[in-house]
Parts: sequence; C-alpha cells; structure tokens
Amino acid sequence: MSSDHNHGAGHDAGHSHEHEGSALDATELRVRALESLLTEKGLVDPAALDEIVDIYENRIGPRNGARIVARAWTDPAYLGRLRADASAAIAEFGFTGRQGEDMVALENTPEIHNMVVCTLCSCYPWPVLGLPPVWYKSAPYRSRAVIEPRAVLAEFGVALPDDTEIRVWDSTAELRYLVLPMRPAGTEGWSEDALAAIVTRDSMIGTGLVTLPETAREAGR
Ligand code: FE
Repeated sequence: MSSDHNHGAGHDAGHSHEHEGSALDATELRVRALESLLTEKGLVDPAALDEIVDIYENRIGPRNGARIVARAWTDPAYLGRLRADASAAIAEFGFTGRQGEDMVALENTPEIHNMVVCTLCSCYPWPVLGLPPVWYKSAPYRSRAVIEPRAVLAEFGVALPDDTEIRVWDSTAELRYLVLPMRPAGTEGWSEDALAAIVTRDSMIGTGLVTLPETAREAGR
C-alpha cells in the first residue's frame, strides 16, 4: 500500500516524514518554541490556544463534512455527483482549498466499512474535517490501522459484524478521503440539519459510526 503513497511536490512544505514515535520534527519544535516564548512574554494564553485548536478539531471543521454527509443521505442526485466527482460535489458547498483538492468519498455499507489513515504522516481533508486529531497523527494509529484495523476500531468502541469487510485507505498529498457513514435507522424524515447534527468527526474518518442520540431513541419508542 505504501508504494503508491506519494507525498510529492504538492505536500505541505516543511512537513517532515522523518519523524517517528515522540520525536518532534522541525516544524513542531519551532511551534513549541514560539508558543513558549509568546506565553513567557504574556502575549498569548496557552488555554486560549487550546481552545482555538479544539474549535477547529471538533466544532467548526467537521461540521462541514457533516453537511456533505447529510446532503448525500437525503439527496440521491447529490450522492450521484459525490460518487462521480467528490471534489466538485464538495466544492458546491464552497468547501475548497488546501489539503482538499482531490477528494474521494467512500461509502460505508453493511458489507464494507471504510477507514482512513495516513501511514506516513497526517494527510487529512482539511476543508471538510478541519484539523486532524492528535491520535490520527500518532505512530500507533498510523501503523496499527493497517495491521489490525478491527482491533483499532474496537478501541474506538466500534464493533462490526464478522462478515463486514474493512477497507483501510491511505491518504496522500494527492488524495484525501471522506467516509460517508451509514445513515442510522430511525432517522427517516429527518431534516438535513438534524441529520448533520448527529454526524461525528470520527464517523467521517471511519473510526466511528453514526448512532441515534438517546433522546431521539426515546422519542421514537
Ligand atoms: Fe501524509
């Protein structure tokens, strides 16, 4: 798989692939040094920085992808366009730019579960998912997702039927993936906004499933 993992000229400049384990690469060292200096001089509050990262990792970033998924669940014509040319279909929402130029949508079905990794570093579809979570960039996830995807999924709380095939996709500078999770039963007739609200970041990486919130389950009884 890694033979077609081409981190070519389009890749983030200064984004080293030499790092393994906990060793910091040059960019990370510079960022840490800058953060320490700014904090020391009282120019930034580290808690505020954490807050900003959290917003892009969890709140703003993945909400874009969630809107794509909700549209694909409710509009068969849109799903068709997403299958034919995901980059163009995603651009209909205005979600374009760096690290999202060449997108492929991977549809989860009862037969096939797709899961995304970047074995070499942290390639990730920024325009639809925001910043990659720390675990996505970690050496254990990057190696184990390929070697033992089922065990990794179990650690994320995802248990799939034995006969569901797990396909692991290696992101590169050229191709970024958005997993289209399965729409949960019990959401028939839901609005696109309501559907988007239950789509999680992890479900769009393939390390999570979309489930009904407890309140909706109770309401459906
Ligand atoms: Fe990468």
